[in-house]
Order: sequence, then C-alpha cells, then structure tokens
Amino acid sequence: MAKTAYNPFETAQKQFDRAADMLELDQATRDLLRNPIREFHFSIPIRMDDGQMKVFRGFRVQHNDARGPAKGGLRFHPQETIDTVRALSMWMTWKTAVADIPLGGGKGGVICDPHNLSHTEQERLCRGWVRQVYKNIGPTVDIPAPDVMTSPQHMLWMLDEYETLRGEKLPGFITGKPVGMGGSLGRKEATGYGVIITVREALKELNINPSDTIASVQGFGNVSQFAIELYEQIGGKVICVSSWDQEDQTSYSFRKKEGVDLEELRSVANPFGGIDKQKAQELGYEVLPGEAWLEQEVDILIPAALENQITGSNAEKMNKRVKIIAEGANGPTTPDADNVIIERDIFIIPDFLANAGGVTCSYFEQVQSNMNYFWERDDVLGRLDVKMTAAFIAVSDFSRSNKLNMRDAAYVISVNRVAQACKDRGWV
Ligand code: NAD
Repeated sequence: MAKTAYNPFETAQKQFDRAADMLELDQATRDLLRNPIREFHFSIPIRMDDGQMKVFRGFRVQHNDARGPAKGGLRFHPQETIDTVRALSMWMTWKTAVADIPLGGGKGGVICDPHNLSHTEQERLCRGWVRQVYKNIGPTVDIPAPDVMTSPQHMLWMLDEYETLRGEKLPGFITGKPVGMGGSLGRKEATGYGVIITVREALKELNINPSDTIASVQGFGNVSQFAIELYEQIGGKVICVSSWDQEDQTSYSFRKKEGVDLEELRSVANPFGGIDKQKAQELGYEVLPGEAWLEQEVDILIPAALENQITGSNAEKMNKRVKIIAEGANGPTTPDADNVIIERDIFIIPDFLANAGGVTCSYFEQVQSNMNYFWERDDVLGRLDVKMTAAFIAVSDFSRSNKLNMRDAAYVISVNRVAQACKDRGWV
C-alpha cells in the first residue's frame, strides 16, 4: 500500500497557515491553533500470554476543545507516530467545526500490530491504554472512537475499564460501540451516506439530475459500499469500483458498463473490502489495472480508499467528463492534483466535509448514550441528512460569495469557527 513519504503534521500546519492567512488571524490565535492544546504520551505495560511483560507506547492528543469536548479515533498501528496523531487530531477539529457539531478535535494511537496480538492481549492493551489516560478523557472532556485497526469490541473493553475505574455507568465515554451495547443504529452507513448527501447537494447546485450521472469509486470498504448504496437510491449508476488484492499485493478495478451490482460485488468481497477477481470475472466484470477507476468516462469520482491517490502524475488521466470529486477517504488528493482540479474547474467536495457523516453520527451516538435513550435508524439517518446538507450549503454559499474553491472555503469556515470560540472564551 502507498506509504506517506511526508510528515502529515507539517502538511496539516501548512493547510492551517493558508487558512490563517486568508482569515488574517492574529499571532496568538495562530500559535494556539497551529499546535495541539494538550498531549499525553505514556507507556502501557502489558503481561503477554507467555507470561512476559511488554511495554507499548501510547498517545492521546487533544488539538482543540474550544467548541466542546475533544473527539476522535484511536489507532493501533505498528508505524504510528506522534506527528500522525497530531495531524489527525487537528483535522478532527476542522471536521467537527465544519459539521457544526459541539465537539473539538482529538486522536489517539498505540504503536502496535494487533495482528501479532492475541484476543486477550488486545483486551489488556485496551484496558491499559484507558488506565494511563482516564483522568484526562471522558464524556465531557474527550471522547475516543474506533479508527485504523480498532473495533467496536476494543471500544467496549475500554468503556468497561473506564466505568470500572470511575465506579459508575458512563456510556457516553466512547463511541463506535456495538449496537445493543450503546452503539447507534445508522453508524455503519453514516460516512458513505454522508458522502452522497453532499454529492446530491452538489448536483443540485450544478443543475444536474442524479439519474443522468455515472460514477467511479476507489475502494470497496465501509465508506465505499454505503456511498454506492445511497448513490444508486438517488438514481445514479456506478460503473467501476477498485479494491486492494491482498494476495497479489496490488489493486484492481472492476468495471461493468451497464452498472455494477452492489449485492453481487458484496457476495464476492472479503470482510476487508477486497474483491475476488476470479469470481468477479465470472460475474461478467472486466478486471482492469488498479488506477483504471480514475480514467473512466464518468461525471463523479469518489476516492474512498486511502490518502494520496489522485496525484500530480495521474490527475491528468481523469476523463474530461468528470464534474465532481467527492473525497470519501481522508486526504486522497495531493496539492499537485488540486492544481489540475482547479484548472479543470471540477467541483471538489473536500474530505473533512464529504466524510463528516461518520463523526456526526458518533456525536448522535454520544447524545443517545448520555440520555440512555436510543433512536430508530430512520431518525438517525434523517438527522444526519439535515446536518450534512446544512454543512454542505454553508460551505458552498461561502465558496460562491467569496470566490474560493470548496476546499479553501471549508477551511476558512471551520478555522474561523474554532478561532472565534477561542476568542469568545478569552483564550486569545
Ligand atoms: P475499509 O478498510 O473498510 O475499506 C478500505 C477499502 O479500500 C477496501 O475495499 C480496500 O480493498 C480498498 N483499498 C485499499 N488500498 C487500495 C488501493 N491502493 N486501491 C484501491 N483500493 C484500495 O476503510 P473505510 O472505513 O471504508 O475507510 C476508507 C477511507 O475513508 C479511509 O481514508 C478512512 O480514513 C476514511 N474515513 C472513514 C470513515 C469511516 O467511518 N469508516 C470516516 C471518515 C473517513
């Protein structure tokens, strides 16, 4: 898989500087927002199944909590670095601000490879992480969630440890819990559906009927599958989907010109969203090289796999028909590619707006957990639609009235909201 050769925190700071320049922020506000407000670095000693002790390194970073408790996932990753966690926590601050939910930005990590840990070792690691940091996080302080290689089961072990230490039931401590144990209905659909709600609004703005559009999608995981589901419900047709092939260590694109069948593809995909090329071929799909998804003659491109996928070297391969790019993944487009997109006047829905449906639904989960009253699926998805539509309209109106592209507009809106909250509180 593609490796990040750059320091993500430097990228996040550069993006912030650009927005800060546009907003002409004063020096104190810049100094406050350029860096996390709080960081916790700690060691987590765990007794392994063979009886030996092993010490893992853990982090929790709270970038900003002026608009509400910090919110963000916890990653288990062998190459985790503090700078990755810092960058991701800053991006969470902008994401919660653009979605206009009363939360700030945080992120956590543990340097580990869960593939090499037994079930019980993973449980001890989750509980150990909570023991190191529980005094500094909580339902009104900082709310973790699943992320790369962490699952609803991990969240439940963490919740149990937190409640044990605190001696009370506090299900709003963490989100991404299993449904039935404090999780929210609609969470699994929320990110992908949110992407399509923003696509639907963009099409309205461009005066295009969704039924007249076709799309190509990178990835076939959680975000992609539910994006395809809702896009088809609003009348669109997906003709190409790509995914990672674990065995061949490369990606492939799967094309059916009359339109892919979501259920059919699901039936030949593994739980990690890898499509079986042999079986797909038997179902009549053309198997093409990994990058082919980008070159299709479509109206909409939805990168929903990884970061750095549309780059300066492949952006020119995008078909002239492309009108909208909806960034389901985090950071799928490099700054070089952004230049091509701007030149071609393609309507970009930036990642932290397009994929904000996930955190919005996590916020709903926390609200439901705190109330101990759980909403029906349609209720959750209806509220998601209201929040995502409002977020999209705020950014597109601002982009039009200030002649900014959508990415710059989203940055300016969110940085301004956070800066204003810091000022109102008297922090700067
Ligand atoms: P996932 O693990 O469920 O799916 C990832 C998919 O990408 C898989 O189908 C995999 O085969 C495919 N893939 C991996 N490398 C590829 C490559 N080189 N070419 C083509 N396909 C490739 O992940 P997800 O939860 O769907 O997340 C996708 C992206 O969306 C990530 O950037 C993630 O950070 C972001 N995101 C996810 C959520 C969420 O709620 N799941 C929320 C916000 C942002």
